[in-house]
Amino acid sequence: MDKKLGNKIPRVPVRELDPAARAKHFEEVCLGYDLHEAQREASRCLDCPKPACVAACPVSIAIPSFIRQLAEGNLYEAASVIAQDSSLPAVCGRVCPQETQCEGACVLGKKGEAVAIGKLERFVADWSREQQVQFAACKPANGRSVAVVGSGPAGLACATDLARLGYRVTIFESLHEPGGVLLYGIPEFRLPKETVVKPEIARLQALGVQIETNVVIGRTLTVDQLLGEEGYDAVFVGSGAGLPKFMGIPGENLNGVVSANEFLTRSNLMKAYREDADTPIYVGRRVVVVGGGNVAMDAARTALRLGAEVTVVYRRTEAELPARLEEVHHAKEEGIRFQFLTNPIAVLGDEQGWVKGLSCQRMELGEPDQSGRRRPVPVAGDCLEVPADVVIMSLGTSPNPLIATTTPGLEVNAWGCLVADEAGATTRLGVFAGGDAVTGAATVILAMGAGRKAAQAIHQYLQQTSC
Ligand SMILES: Cc1cc2nc3c(=O)[nH]c(=O)nc-3n(C[C@H](O)[C@H](O)[C@H](O)COP(=O)(O)OP(=O)(O)OC[C@H]3O[C@@H](n4cnc5c(N)ncnc54)[C@H](O)[C@@H]3O)c2cc1C
Ligand code: SF4
Repeated sequence: MDKKLGNKIPRVPVRELDPAARAKHFEEVCLGYDLHEAQREASRCLDCPKPACVAACPVSIAIPSFIRQLAEGNLYEAASVIAQDSSLPAVCGRVCPQETQCEGACVLGKKGEAVAIGKLERFVADWSREQQVQFAACKPANGRSVAVVGSGPAGLACATDLARLGYRVTIFESLHEPGGVLLYGIPEFRLPKETVVKPEIARLQALGVQIETNVVIGRTLTVDQLLGEEGYDAVFVGSGAGLPKFMGIPGENLNGVVSANEFLTRSNLMKAYREDADTPIYVGRRVVVVGGGNVAMDAARTALRLGAEVTVVYRRTEAELPARLEEVHHAKEEGIRFQFLTNPIAVLGDEQGWVKGLSCQRMELGEPDQSGRRRPVPVAGDCLEVPADVVIMSLGTSPNPLIATTTPGLEVNAWGCLVADEAGATTRLGVFAGGDAVTGAATVILAMGAGRKAAQAIHQYLQQTSC
């Protein structure tokens, strides 16, 4: 195998399902690399002495090192390099916004195309899952126990590291299945549940971690009870940010207006897209999705697969869309329409109380706001109507206040996020937190990184306290 080919060869394209065919079903769109393709792409990496890609990875995976092992055909070694810093590589390889992280910083991107780091990570992770490779064995049981609230990436990563350190770990999950957004939010066509998410969770259970579903912390049990009569030595809260936001415009309570979270939960968790499902899902003929993030793209592409014509309405331009580039590209390929610089001001209804469209204000871009993106400002007198049978609001989410309001001493900030230090320690002794519950809606890799950091902090805390 040639080494360090850089931009002398183009980035190896990844195989994907045909857009017209895949728009009608929920099978995974991206097929990934085979070994030959992966090694060829790996051979483009220059193995930079000061790799910008590592500095740009939120969990500092030793990227050139795993790519070198892959190029040389040492798949076990490649997988063990990744496993040092990531407990969900098959997930991250599929859903991380690589273009703004590792690949965005890759030196090859300056004059050509960045190394396809995400696709290589996915290849190695899929290989190691298929081979059922387990890397670090657990240390002997140390007699201490930790309760983890929530089974999303933050909770899963925290539980994995604590189990390996010898703790007895129980995850409490309010839904009937574990996985958090990986299960109920991100659709099957981006992140397969049976072949990717569930095996990752099974690997965690193989470490001895117990998962108790249908337990709502703050209702079924409180954090105080976990630390008291339930006998846990510490608690990690990774309860995410699942509370949807709405616009507060007239007509939002009409039939046919739903949050993206509800829509996606019906489809992903309750399998409403299947004909044999008990849970209904309604799309009508025309769906309008309001918003421009990953959640909006997922809702739009799900509605399309359920048979609707779909328009995404976004108040800025395409350049400001916060969704991953790949999702926007796939959405367009599949036939999703985009209506940019358009802001809904009212939902319009018929006599039966059902949605019939959106009244919108045309926008233009003004000065940058606090986020650095140019602020959309109304174009005076320029309004339009967009017809719709269903409107899906995808405007972001915030943490559910249940745990904070039922746990004395647990402080939240102005956005309702739990207050925690860098390591994840909250304002309540023995209670740690991380992921979307602390940052607000963010990314899988940041949640995973926060869970791992908190595991270390819990370990330090419990080493300083006696049994
Ligand atoms: C539709 C969608 C698409 C996304 N796409 C991407 C993407 O492409 N790339 C990316 O990096 N990120 C993406 N994200 C964001 C990413 O999924 C989240 O940032 C990440 O899942 C946060 O992880 P978490 O563990 O903090 O929380 P979550 O994944 O939200 O998990 C929290 C868990 O806690 C449970 N819980 C909540 N309250 C309680 C309670 N009181 N008691 C017990 N359990 C409780 C919840 O049921 C849930 O299972 C997406 C998010 C959504 C919604
Ligand atoms: S910056 Fe790009 S070329 Fe350099 S080590 Fe990272 S992936 Fe390889």
